[in-house]
Amino acid sequence: MTEKTKLHYEVIVVGAGVAGIYQIKRLVDLGIEATVLDSANGLGGTWYWNRYPGCRFDSESYTYGYSFSRELLEEWHWKERFSSQPENLRYLNFVADKFDLRRHMQFNCKVDAARFDETRNLWCVSVSGGRELTCRFLVLAIGLLSAPTMPRIEGIDSFKGLSFHTYYWPHEPVDIAGKKVAVIGTGATAIQLIAEIADKVAELTVFQRRPNWSAPLNNSPISEEEMADIRARYDEIFEACTHTPGAFLHGPDHRGFYEVTREERLELWDKLYDEPGFGIWLANFREIFMDEAANSELSKYIADRIRQRVSDPKVAEKLIPRDHGFGVQRLPLETNYYEAYNRDNVHLVNLQETPIERITEKGLKTTEREYDCDIIVYATGFDAITGAYDRIDIRGIGGERLFEKWKDGPKTFLGMLVRGFPNLLMPTGPQSASASTNFPRGIENGVNWCMGVMQYMWDRGYTRAEAMHEAEERWTAHVVKMYEIMLMRKAKSWFTGYNSNVPGHEEGKIRYFVYNGGTPKFVAIINDIAAKGYEGIAFSSNAPPEQGAMSLRTRNCVES
Ligand SMILES: Cc1cc2nc3c(=O)[nH]c(=O)nc-3n(C[C@H](O)[C@H](O)[C@H](O)COP(=O)(O)OP(=O)(O)OC[C@H]3O[C@@H](n4cnc5c(N)ncnc54)[C@H](O)[C@@H]3O)c2cc1C
Repeated sequence: MTEKTKLHYEVIVVGAGVAGIYQIKRLVDLGIEATVLDSANGLGGTWYWNRYPGCRFDSESYTYGYSFSRELLEEWHWKERFSSQPENLRYLNFVADKFDLRRHMQFNCKVDAARFDETRNLWCVSVSGGRELTCRFLVLAIGLLSAPTMPRIEGIDSFKGLSFHTYYWPHEPVDIAGKKVAVIGTGATAIQLIAEIADKVAELTVFQRRPNWSAPLNNSPISEEEMADIRARYDEIFEACTHTPGAFLHGPDHRGFYEVTREERLELWDKLYDEPGFGIWLANFREIFMDEAANSELSKYIADRIRQRVSDPKVAEKLIPRDHGFGVQRLPLETNYYEAYNRDNVHLVNLQETPIERITEKGLKTTEREYDCDIIVYATGFDAITGAYDRIDIRGIGGERLFEKWKDGPKTFLGMLVRGFPNLLMPTGPQSASASTNFPRGIENGVNWCMGVMQYMWDRGYTRAEAMHEAEERWTAHVVKMYEIMLMRKAKSWFTGYNSNVPGHEEGKIRYFVYNGGTPKFVAIINDIAAKGYEGIAFSSNAPPEQGAMSLRTRNCVES
């Protein structure tokens, strides 16, 4: 029986990104009947889809890769400190091939709907093309930044040139040489893209609604010798990531912001700004995330660094954010982004002064003038965190829709289970620690914990696990409380669920999307809950529990 003709699995994993790949690895190691479904035509998730020029990590490559296999760590050579998308995709394919995982994956399979069958304690999964599958456990590894959003502008279909969202950047090469290109948006993606293509196109016009703070990536190649040293230190590196809030190597400066002089603060900032990676954000004083005055002083410092890099003072002022402080949103890192605006062929249009009225056949029309172009790139981001969930019609007990339950924001238990939706597991769900940290570190924690829940049930013959009401309320209240102390609660960003292009996500309502307590605290909480027999989860069985622990390898899979 081929994967495409099987109708029942013990576990269906949706999503073949970093999370889905590790999830299926854990399952096949145990001999569990499982499959991965992905709407894409290949594995890799984020690194399969986002193929725009300049797309790369802002996590150090060697802290992003999987930690679970010593052999894998020995074999893979990261070529750059912050590796680029083609290399990241090669890495994930290498992992899948090394562990022979591809045969457990089905591509071009979009999950449209999933319904919990209460009498059988099974999920019924509807896949594009009309296929219906069933499974005991439905593991959603569908990503937190995987539902791209287009701006709500009139006339998008009327443009006669090439146009695409960065998520859908074509797989075949796009000839940008000598072309007039318009980029809409100045978020993390645009910041990478603009810097990369500025010297390759004839004209580049950037349409900016709100500037973002950004700081240098300071990337560099990794030589054979450096990689050998990294390999020798992998245990130390991953161990260090378990102790920092963001699961990066960058941990906060332990001095108090007000305990040191301004000169000492400047000395630290000068050093961090020139160092690779998130140091300027995460190795800074803790107060910058919570204290308006501390944040404002740092924001002024970064604004001055921008002014030093942009030749035209008017352009520099346009690139400095006024509506939020530095670091209260996930910080984009850049390579020569600000210098791109010193080029004669790069133009910045401030949409707050002259909004776009419509897309035309030839380009864009703002309230001021028309801009002709050959290519329009929509770098307009994602319906973040819950977008991919909202796009599946998920129905739990009594037909309750997850979309309805989360209409005003998600409610979860540990970001991994939802009351009313038994046997639905989300290793990196909304309100888990993944989104606010170095993702793969959170992914490994989440997958391992979800595996623990399933193993607990297999061992005891349970067929149903559901988060309890009180446990879900308590976790969600805890997530909300963590926002109260953070300046990020005031920012219009995906941490607070703001997206003017998604109906219902406009300004005015905070959605408590991510867990801000940091990795060490999150891991301590989930481990404690596991140690207490998954306190907060109600387990039951629709059949008399089978005798003793069940051998997973001999476990029969019902073929309907
Ligand atoms: C441009 C960019 C750069 C990033 N850089 C970093 C970084 O440097 N460091 C970091 O920690 N994080 C980074 N991230 C976050 C990144 O998303 C995670 O690091 C990680 O790749 C998430 O893996 P995942 O498996 O959870 O989800 P994803 O990689 O998003 O994979 C989800 C998969 O689910 C599939 N899917 C979704 N819905 C359905 C459905 N209904 N049916 C079938 N399939 C479905 C999608 O096709 C996709 O393949 C970046 C994100 C972006 C967009």
